[in-house]
Amino acid sequence: MGITREQALEYFRSDDLIGVGMEADAVRRRLHPENVVSYIIDRNINYTNFCTEYCTFCAFYRPLKGARSEEGYILDFETIYEKIAETEALGGTGVLMQGGIHPELKIDWFERLFRGIKERFPRIWLHCLSASEILAIAEYSELSLRETIARLREAGLDSIPGGGAEILDDEVRHRIARLKCRTEDWVSVHRTAHELGMRTTATMMFGVGETMEQRVNHFEVVRQLQEETGGFTAFIPWSFQPNYTALGGRGWDEATSVEYLKVLAISRLYLDNILNVQASWVTQGLKVLELGLHFGGNDVGSVMLEENVVKAAGTSNCTTEEELRRIIRDAGFRPVQRDTLYTTLFLN
Ligand code: SF4
Repeated sequence: MGITREQALEYFRSDDLIGVGMEADAVRRRLHPENVVSYIIDRNINYTNFCTEYCTFCAFYRPLKGARSEEGYILDFETIYEKIAETEALGGTGVLMQGGIHPELKIDWFERLFRGIKERFPRIWLHCLSASEILAIAEYSELSLRETIARLREAGLDSIPGGGAEILDDEVRHRIARLKCRTEDWVSVHRTAHELGMRTTATMMFGVGETMEQRVNHFEVVRQLQEETGGFTAFIPWSFQPNYTALGGRGWDEATSVEYLKVLAISRLYLDNILNVQASWVTQGLKVLELGLHFGGNDVGSVMLEENVVKAAGTSNCTTEEELRRIIRDAGFRPVQRDTLYTTLFLN
């Protein structure tokens, strides 16, 4: 099952990028022999940019008080409904809704929101809230984690994105996101969701000064939980975008394309118990995305109708459905539109 820790470290140290890519491509072709690459049409909605966590890699948040707090917002429900109506009109099948941590947004706010969405848009899949948001909702609502997730699901939450994982190694987390949840807390949220029958994704934000060993620690945490529950639908690595962040201000450069392709390929090799690995155009641009399809990626993510978090860090790649389909074909695959759970919707 998968490669060993030592093999992963050897691949990270290797100069043979093409060789690593070919190994990953072989695993991808074994898991996806049908020669297709999938994408989804959905929209990111960031319901608030207020946040109490002050992560040093984040250019998106605004504090509740003091400097720049006047730039903070909480979207009202009508605005969110309008955005979802637009998404549906453009062929979108879901929304990925995430925000900062706001102590006044307790579970009843999210229950009213999710119920309101499902009443108006019963076909829209709600893939919302990262582990740290769910933990904060539980804390501020004085509920257990299990009760919080169960109530959110009851109100309409369909699945949970892997955001907030960054690097699942507490030494790194302490350095870049001191106030944010620890590795075991992130795992608890995903384990509990899986136990309640919900699917989730796992992400990784790399390039924040972590060692290769710490990257492998991250893979191992995800692989072990997947062995236990089988609840992850996909793994999505992306690189830290340093502009306008505290960490970027300390001179951190963005990971190179070579590093990105290596992480993508090694994640495909290490996590062969997770069916889908997503290549990122949002952080890497379309040319690297195309290469990524030969380095283990079998999915190109979303034709994102709105994206604010990476844009806040000055990265503004954009695309259309037609362009993504052309890139997938140029790379030698058939494009398919999928839903949030990676089920094929249209094959043509
Ligand atoms: S990454 Fe998330 S939790 Fe951290 S400061 Fe930004 S919005 Fe807040």
